Amino acid sequence: MHDPITSLITKLSTEHRLSAEGYAQLLTTEDPAVQDALITAAVAVRKAQFGNGIFLRGLIELTNYCKNNCYYCGIRRDNKDVMRYRMSHQAVLDCCQMGAELGFRTFVLQGGEDPYWNDARLCALITDIKARFPQCAVTVSLGERSEESYRALRDAGADRYLLRHETADSQHYAMLHPPEMSLANRMRCLRTLKSLGYQTGCGMMVGSPYQTIEHLVKDLQWIEALQPETVGIGPFLPHHATPFAAFPAGSAAMTLRLLSIVRLMLPTVLLPATTALGTLLPDGLEQGILAGANVIMPNLTPNTERCNYQLYDGKCTAAKDTLSVLRDRTLRFAAIGYETVHQRGDAPSFLKP
Ligand code: SF4
Repeated sequence: MHDPITSLITKLSTEHRLSAEGYAQLLTTEDPAVQDALITAAVAVRKAQFGNGIFLRGLIELTNYCKNNCYYCGIRRDNKDVMRYRMSHQAVLDCCQMGAELGFRTFVLQGGEDPYWNDARLCALITDIKARFPQCAVTVSLGERSEESYRALRDAGADRYLLRHETADSQHYAMLHPPEMSLANRMRCLRTLKSLGYQTGCGMMVGSPYQTIEHLVKDLQWIEALQPETVGIGPFLPHHATPFAAFPAGSAAMTLRLLSIVRLMLPTVLLPATTALGTLLPDGLEQGILAGANVIMPNLTPNTERCNYQLYDGKCTAAKDTLSVLRDRTLRFAAIGYETVHQRGDAPSFLKP
């Protein structure tokens, strides 16, 4: 390996930041030894912080209605081929019950930006979940909302919020989203979430249409500045009924490299091995864990709804029930020396002394 690159990895491990040029070098080097060195360093950091445990997040896709029209998304407003659904309050509670019995200690309420899920309905749902499952954390992932709304959800008991920024370059953002959406508003939302005390997650697609290395460098600089508790990094995967249907999938190798870089930048970050990575590669979840990730998000959504929550082609896993998926993953992770743990998995800085 070339010494300057070794120095960059050492610098990132110790100082947790690099110059834009340094990030670009790490992202573009073709020396296979660099990927090995990055992975070795990232895995050492995650083992020091979290041992060999993998946190579980139970994903509940409560609505596939969305008022937005993001060019890459299979449930965008203009896709008329989607069978739209909303889970009921009770159906979400039933999912939580099943998840709690299986050992989940975090529920992620995810969906499109659906006006039906206003603050009153959502607060009532979060309050009920927290009352019935006080040992569990609630993560919300329902897009851009007002500060007032984020505050109300937090007051109702929401612990965490996931909102991918998708790209930290405003021109690139405009190539992925219609004109009524803006990076400025996305970043405002993320800063508001941090200020309200949420464990906050941002993240981006790797290999999205028109993405350059400079865009990824900006993503890393934005993550470095925001200091989120979670970073979701997955490859872009096309959906056949979107304007980006003809674009190729993002690179798994680049996704893995970014996972390692983010682990070194933010040693205590909660880093999912994403479903998209697991869709792109048969052993994508294991490879994600072996690159520095420490979270997986099995799906608790009932099969009837799950197949209609198709953000990209190939996502549906309706044939398997949650218990068999969990057993399968437990075995697969054990084979690489890791174990799924039945804990909330809060960010270390949020743990009570
Ligand atoms: S990415 Fe999110 S906000 Fe955009 S259309 Fe899809 S569900 Fe809606």
